[in-house]
Amino acid sequence: MYYPEPISRLMESYMKLPGIGEKTASRLAFYTVNMREEDVTDFAKNLVSVKRDLKYCSICGNITESDPCSICSDKNRDQSVILVVEQAKDVIALEKMQEYSGLYHVLHGVLSPVEGTGPEDINMASLLKRLQNDEVKEVIIATNANVEGEATATYLSRLIKPAEIKVSRLAHGLSVGSDIEYADEVTLLKAVEGRTEM
Ligand SMILES: [Zn+2]
Repeated sequence: MYYPEPISRLMESYMKLPGIGEKTASRLAFYTVNMREEDVTDFAKNLVSVKRDLKYCSICGNITESDPCSICSDKNRDQSVILVVEQAKDVIALEKMQEYSGLYHVLHGVLSPVEGTGPEDINMASLLKRLQNDEVKEVIIATNANVEGEATATYLSRLIKPAEIKVSRLAHGLSVGSDIEYADEVTLLKAVEGRTEM
């Protein structure tokens, strides 16, 4: 009503981003009006590109440009360990620490009876399939230390253990409810090194 149509449409787009309300959206929209045209074009292209050029790795579920992803296709990495995380962002946090050289598996969520998220709603079946390969000797579960994360770890551990694969859990250097993506590299390294068998 008050805004010119292109501005209110852009505001609606900004408001789809997390934590952005009408006030911030308005500020960003007016800022965009004053940006250089080529910067705006790049911005729009980059937005489209993250959807068009990225896919999920068919092995680990990580976000990647090529399938399998660079981690799964790196034969120098330790093929005997799989570290299980909730989200692709966690892989980045763990890779930054530059100490872990095994493989990953991204669940894209956790089990949550409250929200009705069951095993079939997350990327769990493909993990169990990977474990049929004799090469895997250990699965490190790095779901977050909250109720859902713990429940998911316990559930996975019960499924995996009968296959005589070691299941371990990150040490609780990470405080309860703290997300991997926000942990610093030293804390993460300690959590991986001090992992305990489930
Ligand atoms: Zn992969």
